[in-house]
Amino acid sequence: MIYLDNAATTRVFDNAVDAAANAMRIGFFNPNATYRASVDANAEMERARNALAAAVGAKSDEIYFTSCATEANNWAIERGRKRIKGNVVITAGEHASVYEAAMQLKSRGIDVRVVPLTRGGQVDGDALLAAVDKETALVSVIHVSNETGAVNHIKKLAAAVKAKSPTTVFHSDGVQAVLKTREPISSLGVDLYSASAHKIGAPKGIGFLYVRRGFGIAPLLYGGGQEKNLRSGTQNTPYIAAFAAAAEDFARSADINKIAAIRDRLSEHFIKNGCEIVGSGPNSGFVLCVHVPEVKAEILQNIASDNGVIIGKGSACSGSKRGNRVLGAMGLSEKAAECCIRLSFFVDTELDAALDAARIITECADRIRSGHVK
Ligand code: PLP
Repeated sequence: MIYLDNAATTRVFDNAVDAAANAMRIGFFNPNATYRASVDANAEMERARNALAAAVGAKSDEIYFTSCATEANNWAIERGRKRIKGNVVITAGEHASVYEAAMQLKSRGIDVRVVPLTRGGQVDGDALLAAVDKETALVSVIHVSNETGAVNHIKKLAAAVKAKSPTTVFHSDGVQAVLKTREPISSLGVDLYSASAHKIGAPKGIGFLYVRRGFGIAPLLYGGGQEKNLRSGTQNTPYIAAFAAAAEDFARSADINKIAAIRDRLSEHFIKNGCEIVGSGPNSGFVLCVHVPEVKAEILQNIASDNGVIIGKGSACSGSKRGNRVLGAMGLSEKAAECCIRLSFFVDTELDAALDAARIITECADRIRSGHVK
């Protein structure tokens, strides 16, 4: 089986499995109790926080663990705003966990402005700045698109937004960017930044919100006051340990140039076989979105899977929803968007296997078009 749906989730690194298993078997104590074993579990959690912070380029007191990036994004959108009545600016390329959270604000009467994308898949920077005014409470721009891998220049955009409106809060969804663009979070000039563990070789169900030191955010969840009173709920110490172990493994083993070269070779193959690459311009290298004319992605995904190749179509989280909001915002028709597949890579993706997969995909597409599907 060749697995090319790593933007949906990745396999878990062995070190991360071991770290989680140790924390479950040995260090299972509640990290917030006061006896010795718990103090040790807490110290282990703080060691993991330090290692993770160092890997992603943040200070450890800026990392607040959450149950997932969906929670981190909701937290940022709901509670990151200082001006509660001010407008909110997001992009048409946001993941559902930002987009739908913003739509909740809209349903409560808040002016939510959705900025268009370019054909390449990046946010239109001029339109973003035009949408920001002195009343803008929060801007949220996805760092790397989960649909196309398109990279937004967060450092430049955050600086431009702050220059126009210094009190506007800047949040970025960094789920597909963390450790992949190799930009330290602290270098981006953002106030808030979301991450998820299961895109970098750790289990599902753990994420964090980076909260810039000195930036006050109100909690989304109230209760026992864990995470310095900002995120109540007993911390998931096994997955926190796994998150840190995976971040270290990923940082050590990811050859970003190798991944980008695989993406380039696959792009050539698909273009030669009558397909189009969706999006252009800066790309993380980890995601390749391909329009396969006249072949519905859902059918191709099933036939490819029967032939040992696992690929994505659109965002896995919204796999059951009709239409594709992000590809539509890039100018694709609904029909074209239905024919787009997503291939996404991990540190262990090898060129030969990826090229085999690409060949199998285009063969399956030919068979579907000619009605010879088995
Ligand atoms: N943001 C982006 C860009 C994603 O790709 C995903 C997951 O697919 C999420 C947010 C949600 O992450 P989680 O599964 O941790 O809630």
